Amino acid sequence: MNKSVRNLVLVLGDQLNADASAFDGFDPAADAVWMAEVREESEHVWSSQPRTALFLAAMRHFRDERRAAGWMVNYTELDAIANTGTLAGELARAVAFLRPARLILTEPGDWRVWRAMENAAEGLGLVLEVRPDRHFFATLEDFRIHALGRKQLRLEYFYREQRRRHRVLLDASGGPEGGEWNYDQENREGFPKTGPGVLPAPAAFPPDATTQAVLALVARYFKGHPGRLESFDWPVTPAEARRALADFIQHRLPGFGRHQDAMWAGEPWLYHSRLAAALNLKLLDPREVVAAAEGAYRSGLAPLASVEGFIRQILGWREYIRGVYWLRMPDYAAVNALGAEAALPAFFWTGETEMTCLREAIGQTLSLGYAHHIQRLMVTGLYTLMLGVEPKRVHEWYLAVYVDAVEWVELPNVIGMSQHADGGFLASKPYIATGKYIQRMSNHCAGCRFDPAKASGEDACPFTTLYWDFLERHEARLAANPRMALQVKNLARLAPGARQAIRERAAAIRANDGNPPGAQNGTRQAALFD
Ligand code: FAD
Ligand code: SF4
Repeated sequence: MNKSVRNLVLVLGDQLNADASAFDGFDPAADAVWMAEVREESEHVWSSQPRTALFLAAMRHFRDERRAAGWMVNYTELDAIANTGTLAGELARAVAFLRPARLILTEPGDWRVWRAMENAAEGLGLVLEVRPDRHFFATLEDFRIHALGRKQLRLEYFYREQRRRHRVLLDASGGPEGGEWNYDQENREGFPKTGPGVLPAPAAFPPDATTQAVLALVARYFKGHPGRLESFDWPVTPAEARRALADFIQHRLPGFGRHQDAMWAGEPWLYHSRLAAALNLKLLDPREVVAAAEGAYRSGLAPLASVEGFIRQILGWREYIRGVYWLRMPDYAAVNALGAEAALPAFFWTGETEMTCLREAIGQTLSLGYAHHIQRLMVTGLYTLMLGVEPKRVHEWYLAVYVDAVEWVELPNVIGMSQHADGGFLASKPYIATGKYIQRMSNHCAGCRFDPAKASGEDACPFTTLYWDFLERHEARLAANPRMALQVKNLARLAPGARQAIRERAAAIRANDGNPPGAQNGTRQAALFD
């Protein structure tokens, strides 16, 4: 008969921080840690292979590091014979074995998992103590207070509060460094026609033996799932995450702001940090990230516009998005203000399309588990928004394919920011654009058989067609939004014949599962996966 433990600390796959509140008072002689790899977490959405691999690899490294520190870690591997495949089932097995007096958990990042853990504890007749997540600058209560009495939320107000409260990038008088809170106007440049030049390659993290074992396991267990594992190269420990941060600060932060929105074929990383997954798994503390970026400005390594732009993403957007998630869940997952009902095009799972920008963004997403913000917002998200795909389907795709996808951050970005399905709660207007935006910000259109200037006809760019079609379908709603007035006015300038041709072309795209009719969509797949 084994000795029962005092506290069993539950650690989920995105809670890999030994300093988390759940470990306050942890006594290795009396307490134990519980972790489980379960199929359910890779199957509730069709989780891509790189995403599952990253979670499992980081979890195993955390387990090994804690065991080396002398902690008891009750851990179920995915292929353990008795594995029930669910968190609740695995917890029940561990409780039967360890007979803890109490369960302790840091606030989960995902509404579904929080409820599941509460229900599981209740079913086992055990007290579950849920402790605040100290990872974030703002607590859930801070955000609730910020939101109190506001009909609409806007990042800018919250971001300024965060800067003041946490004393980030302030001058001696307590005002914003350089006199402005936001330097976004300086951050919207594309690359010249000759391209981005020689880019600093990000630090590499080749899989060690632990990660290699996970890659083999995932390839076997989730063979039919989307995504590829050959290029797996993500930091999976806190030490690696810190090295990734240092590498970004030194080599890419200086160029981050200026080219933040730019895209270039075959260049997935550009000046981006690749830190979202390490942050979301809690391998990295956002305070450390923000301090390192501010330090780069103070030491003259990086310009203010880059540093402010980067800090706004972490201290502003990341925290704002989390606040919105917890304020609006569970109903937020079901909102559909624009009544979008279309299915997600099948090519989102394969990259098989003649539209170069989508082929690039989806191809890179499937092979790396990564696309940068503008690819997510202004290529894939823009397309599903204007096509009219049901937001829930879009949300499931994003949650499945990105290595950094966890629901608290993915869902509001998709539902609110990208699909405008919350009717403007998170962002004041829908992000819509013609193919000309993509032409300005990338080199994709140069190699594409469609013409971003054309809205109808055989070679019309589907983004341009769907842009006008979207305006027309939602004209009444958009006319009431002052930020959309100019775009709605331009629609009125189109001749009735042109509007009819656009309508027909848009209907044909919809009838062809989101691909422009007549396109040779299967022919590009070999190139994509070469
Ligand atoms: P960088 O471009 O280097 O940015 C720095 C950091 O800022 C990121 O690592 C991230 O932690 C934070 N950040 C930037 N933008 C946002 C934002 N809008 N919301 C929250 N944090 C932000 N981010 C995720 O972490 N997980 C997701 O599942 C996710 N899904 C998204 C879905 C859509 C439709 C959109 C438009 C954005 C999504 N984002 C998501 C936000 C953003 O695109 C990614 O954080 C970023 O692309 C990750 O790459 P990076 O680490 O190189 O980021
Ligand atoms: Fe994308 Fe249209 Fe440009 Fe082709 S022409 S790359 S579909 S925006």
